[in-house]
Amino acid sequence: MKTYPVASIDLAALQHNLKLIKQLAPNSQVISVIKANAYGHGHIEVAQALDNSDAFAVARLSEALELRQAGIKHKIVLLEGVTTAEEIQTAADYDLSLVFHHQTQIKLLEQTKLVKPLSFCWLMIETGMHRLGFDISDVDEILTRLETNEAIAGKIGLMSHFANADLVDDQRNQQQMAMILAVTEDDHSISMANSAAILSFPASHQQWLRPGLMLYGVSPFDDKTATDLGLKPVMQLTSVITSIQQLSKGDQVGYGGDWTASESKTVGIVSIGYGD
Ligand SMILES: *Cc1c(COP(=O)(O)O)cnc(C)c1O
Repeated sequence: MKTYPVASIDLAALQHNLKLIKQLAPNSQVISVIKANAYGHGHIEVAQALDNSDAFAVARLSEALELRQAGIKHKIVLLEGVTTAEEIQTAADYDLSLVFHHQTQIKLLEQTKLVKPLSFCWLMIETGMHRLGFDISDVDEILTRLETNEAIAGKIGLMSHFANADLVDDQRNQQQMAMILAVTEDDHSISMANSAAILSFPASHQQWLRPGLMLYGVSPFDDKTATDLGLKPVMQLTSVITSIQQLSKGDQVGYGGDWTASESKTVGIVSIGYGD
């Protein structure tokens, strides 16, 4: 029996979109963002198909562990880091990389004896989003504390997130970029660009990109489609029509009469709802 609806995932389209990202920013490396079940596309299958990525990022520890259990060997960055001693230990055991965005996470690192050091870790810096990150004035001190800690191997990267990257040429993007660039007196990698910035703000590319949306073939801009940008949609959602209704002018459709027929019309009812 065929059940509906069906979400079909086109892995070749996914690979095409990653290739486009690499063409747009040939000197940067790519952290493919596959949080939230790869934006609903299936994080394990997506990670396997995006083998060409230089690293992956997820929001939560549980997602990273699922990827490791599926045999994914890439660097995996936990965008929200960890909150307990047990979690930091697990992250080290499974070679996961952490983003540090709050003092409590630095203290946790300093208070926990790790068997293996953490590598490819990042410091999230507040540059205008006001969601996660250290104040710019604390960055030098925190970097020193992290880099003199034996539980950290290698350099710490500097990460921040645009609040308005979908608004092309917005002054606030330049300001956020200037803030993170001002931190780097030496050789810290920078990761700033999400999809919108990859597409519209080349100066933000730096060493590490963090595309999400565009990997899945979604345009981050109101006034441009995925096709305009050369992206291929990855998900196709299909279902069946289970009923056809003939409406007269003025008939209201749905809860609260959400929509009113402006003339006599034929309406198809598609099988998709809460259960899906
Ligand atoms: C979700 C997320 C991204 C990806 O952003 P897109 O707009 O989907 O490209 C990048 N960085 C961080 C920190 C994120 O949370």
